[in-house]
Amino acid sequence: MDCIFCKIREGEIPSYKVYEDDHVLAFLDITQGTKGHTLVIPKKHVPNVYEVDEDTITHVFTAVPKIARALKKAFNPIGLNIVNNNDRPLQSVFHFHVHLIPRYEDDGMVLSTKNNFGKIEPETFIEITQKIKDSL
Ligand code: AMP
Ligand code: ZN
Repeated sequence: MDCIFCKIREGEIPSYKVYEDDHVLAFLDITQGTKGHTLVIPKKHVPNVYEVDEDTITHVFTAVPKIARALKKAFNPIGLNIVNNNDRPLQSVFHFHVHLIPRYEDDGMVLSTKNNFGKIEPETFIEITQKIKDSL
């Protein structure tokens, strides 16, 4: 399979592994957006959040806090972002992964949400809520 993270799992291409158990692997993101930027992946090849099964996501998110605590202990960041990208153009590697991004003063990393509160009517909130519930 032509998947770069499966190749990392198989040791076919090198990586800086920080954690491994039966189901999960964590290694440094090659870009090191900030110091300690780490990716957590399931060993099982799953492309994205839409296709992940409960066991696999449970394994991944059982490991995430362990690694988050290690990053906090190791680098004393001011905070930590957890990011998961799905589908193009956000996602570039189609093997599910969670980014752990320790944050530092003036680290230049741009990760923010937009605040539209005040611009949206209550009816619209109700409409959006209903649409999601109807899709579950
Ligand atoms: P995305 O799919 O946009 O959530 O991001 C995929 C991430 O994988 C990017 O941040 C890349 O820097 C990272 N990446 C790609 N190839 C490698 C590699 N060989 N080793 C470590 N990280 C990688
Ligand atoms: Zn894969």
